[in-house]
Amino acid sequence: MPDHESTRRTVVIGNWKMHKTSAEGVALAAELVAGLEPGRAAVAVAPPFTALAPVADALRGSSVSLAAQDVFHEREGAFTGAVSAPMLAAAGCSIVLVGHSERRHVFGDRDEDVRRKALAVLDAGMRPVVCVGETLEQRDAGDAENVVRSQVEAVVARLSEAQLARLTVAYEPVWAIGTGRTATPEIAEAMHRVIRASLAALAGSGAAERTPILYGGSVKGDNAGAILAGANVDGLLVGGASLRADSFLTICHAAG
Ligand code: PEP
Repeated sequence: MPDHESTRRTVVIGNWKMHKTSAEGVALAAELVAGLEPGRAAVAVAPPFTALAPVADALRGSSVSLAAQDVFHEREGAFTGAVSAPMLAAAGCSIVLVGHSERRHVFGDRDEDVRRKALAVLDAGMRPVVCVGETLEQRDAGDAENVVRSQVEAVVARLSEAQLARLTVAYEPVWAIGTGRTATPEIAEAMHRVIRASLAALAGSGAAERTPILYGGSVKGDNAGAILAGANVDGLLVGGASLRADSFLTICHAAG
């Protein structure tokens, strides 16, 4: 098996959720650009839709990429309130989160919606980050691995090799998001191994080895290093701790 250090670059994405006006987002982006030390981690931020274009301007010329938090799968049309993948690409995004647990549980996104969104992101030339993860009830019932496997399969089953090359998966146990309760490094690594095996079964071991698998769920500066030590943990998706430059930069530097 190839050494993951040499085949997968560490990725850190800050998910700002429904925080930051345009002006606040630009100020945070400027602080990140000024404070980020060169390292081997690829860093991205995901502002709300309204802040994408101004934050894209603030990031221009830097190594920080722009991500969106969600997308609608249609290209254009009578879909009031929705934003399409080509619109996100035109706003400067290169990465789009799909299937975040808040989209699944608050807004009702189903596996089929997540699959369509991932395809729309790929069609528009961007990279989807497919978020998967079990609820506490599912974990307590012993179903965590099956739930996560089926969420991965729903998206990956019919992707071409070229599409797989742009896929990232993020394991975010629902019980760890925004709760302050982080999965132990052992729990995270164990589920990342399950996801890697699932990718191998669906797409072949080469694609599985190349796909970055990120962990998300109450990551902070003081636990990032231990979680990243897992051989199958290729990066972090960070919510709350990405809202301030100091805490997010600490995590980025721990990763790179
Ligand atoms: C997230 O929003 O993807 C997330 C992991 O949030 P938090 O870090 O706040 O748990």
